[in-house]
Amino acid sequence: MNSITKLHAKPFQDQFGRHKRKLRISITDRCNFKCVYCMPEHPEWMHKHNLLSFEALYAFCKFMVQRGIEQIRITGGEPLMRQGVVHFVQQLKTLKVLGLKRISMTTNGHYLKHYAHALQEAGLDDLNISLDSLDEQQFQQLTQRKLGPVLEGIAEAQKAGLKLKINTVLMQSLNENQIIPLVQWATQEQIELRFIEFMPLDGDQKWTQQEVVSEQYILDSLSRQFEVQRVDGHGTQPARQYRVNGQIIGIISTITHSFCGRCDRLRLNAQGEFYNCLFSLNGLNLKQDIETLSSDPQQVDILLNSKLTSYIWQKEQGFHSLMIKKPQSNVRKISMHMIGG
Ligand code: SAM
Ligand code: SF4
Repeated sequence: MNSITKLHAKPFQDQFGRHKRKLRISITDRCNFKCVYCMPEHPEWMHKHNLLSFEALYAFCKFMVQRGIEQIRITGGEPLMRQGVVHFVQQLKTLKVLGLKRISMTTNGHYLKHYAHALQEAGLDDLNISLDSLDEQQFQQLTQRKLGPVLEGIAEAQKAGLKLKINTVLMQSLNENQIIPLVQWATQEQIELRFIEFMPLDGDQKWTQQEVVSEQYILDSLSRQFEVQRVDGHGTQPARQYRVNGQIIGIISTITHSFCGRCDRLRLNAQGEFYNCLFSLNGLNLKQDIETLSSDPQQVDILLNSKLTSYIWQKEQGFHSLMIKKPQSNVRKISMHMIGG
């Protein structure tokens, strides 16, 4: 057993006893979409030379798998915009012998048509695709892009045999009229659909509570049309599940029913800032340590381990406690396109 394996026997945990099993890696902040609930009007992209190389990201993933991480999700920005992503999935697959159980990705689906088969062959286990409307005009208004390529991407991913989920962020007066059409479409396509409550992580910080389409609103809309039953036992999954006319529908209601109490996630952004929560006001800059990890692991693994142990331990109880702490004047610099959902 080498020093890393010995060192990494225990999984990370926070002060509330939550063990960390899932890691989200944002590989780029760039995106070809401009979703109203995510991208700022004038994004300031990270400089390419500040991004961690795939080699460094792989070294970090290996380190984290040896510390109990079982699932890695590749996200962005738009992950399919970074060249080399398929090879990265292939590399991650080699971590399965060390305990990695699942490699996932979240994508807007625009380039998926070209990548679906290669991703499946490289070893991707599952894919979340964002789809906020089935109405072409509304889709364009929400994302500044066309719906067609996304639907083609979804069809190609199904053909490739990838396990899929659809994520839909709902906003009042924008796309709450999509609840029923999307459920009907998902039932027909036999794809799991999850509605997500709009979170205060939009780039321009314009979020208001009034724009949130709550879990209760979604359930009320569904109940008027379908038979809806609660499905118990969602484990560490963020979505609360319902059976709607025989089809499973998830609702991620971070605002009205936060799942913070059982959160087992950690996050790294594309330039090596590490976050113990989506809503953390401060990240931990690990860029240099992660780069050294890929060239000389022995030199840095004890230091990195101790930095992570102490930062992860300090994870707040939940999103609500963080929002209370956030002073009005303290503008959070990181938004969803930089940290990955
Ligand atoms: N570009 C990819 C995509 O859109 O799937 C991956 C990155 S995106 C930041 C990841 C997820 O975050 C998407 O499902 C997106 O809908 C969600 N998201 C972005 N901003 C959000 C917000 N303010 N509230 C809730 N979900 C949000
Ligand atoms: Fe891009 Fe995804 Fe953000 Fe939309 S949600 S702007 S696709 S990163």
